[in-house]
Parts: sequence; C-alpha cells; structure tokens
Amino acid sequence: MKLESLQELFIEELQDLYSAENQILEALPKMIEEASSPDLKAGFTEHLEQTRTHVTRLDQIFDQLGDDVDREDKTCKGMKGIIKDAEELLDTDAEPEVLDAGMIAGAQRVEHYEIAGYGTVRTYAQLLGRKEWVQLLEQTLQEEKDTDKKLTQLASHINLEAKAA
Ligand code: FE
Repeated sequence: MKLESLQELFIEELQDLYSAENQILEALPKMIEEASSPDLKAGFTEHLEQTRTHVTRLDQIFDQLGDDVDREDKTCKGMKGIIKDAEELLDTDAEPEVLDAGMIAGAQRVEHYEIAGYGTVRTYAQLLGRKEWVQLLEQTLQEEKDTDKKLTQLASHINLEAKAA
C-alpha cells in the first residue's frame, strides 16, 4: 500500500488502534475472570467499560471519514502479540498472587502500546487541523495514562503478595 499523505497515515494508525481496542475488548473478560485480587478484578472491569467508550470515540472519527475508509481493514499484530503473551501466562500453573502480578505486567504493556498510538494520532489530528478529533483522542489518551498509573499502584501491593507467595 502507498501512503501519500499524513491523512492517510493517520487513517492507518487509527485502524491499528481500532483493531487493538477490539482485541482488548475480547481479552479483558478472561483477565477479569482469572484475577484473584478484588482490586485488580475491579480495575479490569472498569477498563472494559472504558474500552467500549474508546471504540465509540474511534467510531465517531471513522463516521466522519466516510464510507471509503474501512475501519476494520487492519489487524494490529503488535496487540495480537502482547495479548498472546498474556494468554500464555494464564495457561501456566502459577500461584494466584504471582499470576495477578504477571497480568499487571501484561496489562501495562497494553496500556503503553495504546499510549504511544493515541499520542501519535492525537498529534496528527492537531496537524490536520481537526480539533474535534484531537479532543476525542486526547480523552482516550488520558484514560489510558490513568489506567497505567492505577496498575502501577495496584502492582505496589500485589507484587509484594507475589513475593510472599
Ligand atoms: Fe483503550
């Protein structure tokens, strides 16, 4: 495929995130189920709700881009790999506290991937002069950053429990 403009690159990056978010939507229920710590379970559950909103925000932008753009055109291979690694962990025989710590490690990789992606498309939207897109993407970017911070907080005690296990 040929990329001739920043707008086209923006669309590519947006399709990547659309695929990533939908993969996360599919993966989170299993993480919720497997988490032992009630706080971690609650955190994943909250993020599942947020992720639905993230997809909706991307849908709003795709709606404005028109029918020529297929929002489901890409599979994000980066997110596929991150999720596959996390799922492999779930298949191992691990102490519950250790598994929780490992799930946080995986979840933070997911968040960092998204933070990178949303930071990029937010900046492209700024350059393209689309203020309403900037706002939508900025909101999601902030929520991903907040989730990452919450995971760091959760890890501060869950890692200690894993150490004691
Ligand atoms: Fe997200």
